[in-house]
Amino acid sequence: MAFFHTHIITGPIRSRRLGLSLGVNLLPVRNKLCNYDCVYCECGWNTVEEAEPEQLPSPEAVGAALEKALTDLAAQGVRPDSITFSGNGEPTLHPDFGAIVPMVKDCAARFYPENPPGLTLISNATQIGRKEVAEALKLCQRVLLKLDAGTPAMYAQINRFQKGFRLGAYRQNQEAEAFFEELLRNLRAFPYPFTVQALLFRGEHEGQRLDNTSGAEWEAYCRQLAAIRPQGIMLYGLDRETPAKKLQKLSAEELERKAEDLRRRGFKNVSAFF
Ligand code: SF4
Repeated sequence: MAFFHTHIITGPIRSRRLGLSLGVNLLPVRNKLCNYDCVYCECGWNTVEEAEPEQLPSPEAVGAALEKALTDLAAQGVRPDSITFSGNGEPTLHPDFGAIVPMVKDCAARFYPENPPGLTLISNATQIGRKEVAEALKLCQRVLLKLDAGTPAMYAQINRFQKGFRLGAYRQNQEAEAFFEELLRNLRAFPYPFTVQALLFRGEHEGQRLDNTSGAEWEAYCRQLAAIRPQGIMLYGLDRETPAKKLQKLSAEELERKAEDLRRRGFKNVSAFF
């Protein structure tokens, strides 16, 4: 069953990688809005290809919901470790993302002036080439950017870049394979520290074999990482139910072996989560 965030603010939840994490969902509640349609997405398959900015929470609504949540938490003496932009789709697609991030940072500093919670972004990285998005990411303590494939063909099959997607004035007209080159260019050129996150799995969808863990595909993935030089790498296995039904979860041992392989190749700060 698809999993949705039903409010602007969710949690806080205890996360292994982020500690106590308060979620901020800048997407619609109860449905997904994303310019990818990953075969493993916990929100299920996309149901909308076009949307208007009015369907997203306004900066004022985000500010009010966050104020309320932090008022409640502060009254209980609770301080989140992270305020985390994630949710029902891709947060950086929000047209006011560049204004919302500093507002959230200011709000966190007001409630916890001694030790404000850091901001975390979990993103598919498709918007990092936009100046206002990059500037906002500079304010985040942790930036986790998705890269699941080393070749355009595997990228197209796993992440299913949605040609034709539209949100207000933003339109996606490229083919997946062409966009993959742009994505890699933007990751290589991104000026602020970030961690790459990858979901590793094997399986099949619509008659196509999917495997980002072995052979030439894994070698290509490692070459892309070497060119991108991220500050860290987080590897994940499948967790929740996936919309594509023939995907196989890697065992904890296998995922740890992939992490060890990356460390042997000289990558720093590699961790595996299962
Ligand atoms: S990028 Fe994230 S939200 Fe978008 S389809 Fe992929 S997993 Fe789902």
